[in-house]
Amino acid sequence: QKMVWAKLVNEKTLTKDGHHVELAANIGTPNDIEGVHNNGAEGVGLYRTEFLYMGRNELPTEEEQFEAYKKVVESMEGKPVVIRTLDIGGDKELPYLDLPKEMNPFLGFRAIRLCLEKQEMFRTQLRALLRASAFGNLKIMFPMIATLEEFRQGKQILEEERQTLEKNGVKVNREMEIGIMVEIPSTAVMAPQFAKEVDFFSIGTNDLIQYTMAADRMNEKVSYLYQPYNPAILRLVKMVIDASHQEGKWTGMCGEMAGDEIAIPLLLGLGLDEFSMSATSVLPARSQLASITKQEAEIVAMESLNKNTADEVKELVRSKFF
Ligand code: PEP
Ligand code: MG
Repeated sequence: QKMVWAKLVNEKTLTKDGHHVELAANIGTPNDIEGVHNNGAEGVGLYRTEFLYMGRNELPTEEEQFEAYKKVVESMEGKPVVIRTLDIGGDKELPYLDLPKEMNPFLGFRAIRLCLEKQEMFRTQLRALLRASAFGNLKIMFPMIATLEEFRQGKQILEEERQTLEKNGVKVNREMEIGIMVEIPSTAVMAPQFAKEVDFFSIGTNDLIQYTMAADRMNEKVSYLYQPYNPAILRLVKMVIDASHQEGKWTGMCGEMAGDEIAIPLLLGLGLDEFSMSATSVLPARSQLASITKQEAEIVAMESLNKNTADEVKELVRSKFF
């Protein structure tokens, strides 16, 4: 099996009937890039920048961040690199920010909510990202977007920083795509509206499932409700993908679900454009995709939307593809 996978390192990802989808990797630090290359990922679909901020006593400087982002973008040699702005809060804490203790951290002051308030911190990161954008194919995405206003504010701030940099003669990529994570149900439901303003979506199923099912992703007691194959989740995913395509935009997925062998045929059938997963899942996923046609995946995906339970969906996929 490993030998079969190894042959696919330098191959494009093609289904049995010749459709291309992009298989990208999730990373946490520039050191993860080696794994991205060794496993033949076609891009970085999620760079979690939190790690730059964690395990230290103060905020990282613009220069430190610029160096990290530039390193990743350059080493990908023109392949897409989606960098997510700071997603702190929830399960990830920063002691030096001295944030108030909350009753429900996962429903609280985190990610873009925090960045829009702590603007100096946010602007520093955006400047580092804008500067790094001149060195390759960098795309920015905002985490935990719940409303259009949040996206517009984030984009406005980014635009202000871009103009200031350019006024000072700094080179930035003006064509840089700006997207959002879809990990809150309100945003999935409003995807047609968002799709007119964003350049792309990346579905964060780790959070989207937790918020849709109202089941804490860290709580063992309710883990049975953590159901990627629940038709409710699949319907939301379909809404997002369809909305993006309607506007000529693309949709990726960077939650764990994107690398799951039961989910992969369903996501292919629903029209997902980019799958981002842990680097070690890329070759198994490429091998799996080569064995199924998009046409049969579409039929099964449509059927799955009309199932009643997650177990029924799982059974359907198993009977058709395994
Ligand atoms: C997600 O929510 O699916 C995601 C990719 O983000 P994180 O796991 O970092 O919350
Ligand atoms: Mg998330």
